[in-house]
Amino acid sequence: MLKPIHRVNCSPALDACQRMMQRFALWLCSPAITGVNISQPGLQPPVLASAIEANWLWGFLQRIEGGQSLLSRAQMVANMAPAQKANLANWMQTVAAVATQFQPAPVPWPIYRPITTDSNWKAFKALMEAFYEKGFRGGLPYLADGTPTAAGGVSYADYVSAFRSSHRLSSAPHSREVCVLCGGPLGDTPHVDHWIIKSAFPLLSVCADNLQLICSTCNEAPNKGDKPVHSAGSFADWFHPYFRPGNGTLQIAYVLPEFAVRCSASTITDEPKAEKLDTLLNLNSRWTREFKAEYAKHQDVLIRREQRRLQSAQARHTQVEILSYIQQWQADLTASEPHHEVHLALAAALQEPSRIAAWHSELASKN
Ligand SMILES: [Zn+2]
Repeated sequence: MLKPIHRVNCSPALDACQRMMQRFALWLCSPAITGVNISQPGLQPPVLASAIEANWLWGFLQRIEGGQSLLSRAQMVANMAPAQKANLANWMQTVAAVATQFQPAPVPWPIYRPITTDSNWKAFKALMEAFYEKGFRGGLPYLADGTPTAAGGVSYADYVSAFRSSHRLSSAPHSREVCVLCGGPLGDTPHVDHWIIKSAFPLLSVCADNLQLICSTCNEAPNKGDKPVHSAGSFADWFHPYFRPGNGTLQIAYVLPEFAVRCSASTITDEPKAEKLDTLLNLNSRWTREFKAEYAKHQDVLIRREQRRLQSAQARHTQVEILSYIQQWQADLTASEPHHEVHLALAAALQEPSRIAAWHSELASKN
């Protein structure tokens, strides 16, 4: 969110998979369909859009997940009572239209499970999540542009690679990669994040507009973890990676008396969204930690320089020299490096006359 987030060249393949999942799941919910209708001939057009997708889906349904075939999960959904099917179909229509939640007057977002029978919900959830865990990892039946293909379709590894390369901030081959959410290092083990968690909304498990690659620190508890990205079904006070991006309005402000930084927004109307994002990712404390660590690093540089000066009987640093050191460091900061915004905030905070004076006396007291 601190950095721009955009769809990647293979996002249309994920869109196509999302459409197939919806089409299949809605068909399972048709009143006339029961488990016996699910067969390779039974999935052919017009049930699915193409024979390639029907054949891929039939192969996919043969896979075993948690000791049961995915076919048996699909049969459980198809064999549900008509009222449960109608509930699930309504829920799917709302969840699939997640983009409308970011338009004026959205329909209420469902915050309760659409299926009350635990075993049926688990069957639906396992089936939908398997499209991500097994289908996507093994390869979808689509080329990058969404055209059905019987072989060589887009896989999880292709998506990760496309997301990484198209979100690199520097074209230098060995440059560090940056997390789009927090602006910190992307790290060696980035995670594919489901912005809206897939355990509660498994229909969105392969939705291109629900996926992004972020650093493991952002993704894991006590940061994002399994937290919701809405307030009891309202997205009004929330950014969204694609539908309501924080990039451009999200900013880092320093709070000089506390010598800390705060996740903030450039407009008053976006301020609640910045606050929610901080609740989700603990940006204030994470950014402040980096702010203080970077300060300590520069303080150490100046302390050692001052020691060398004293050892060679030179004069101590003046406030003007400290300011000049900060300004040179600021001028050398690189926008494509991790934590660039935090470092800019630190450079600005340190140039406040009261901070320069404080730093000057700290330097004297440490030597
Ligand atoms: Zn991050």
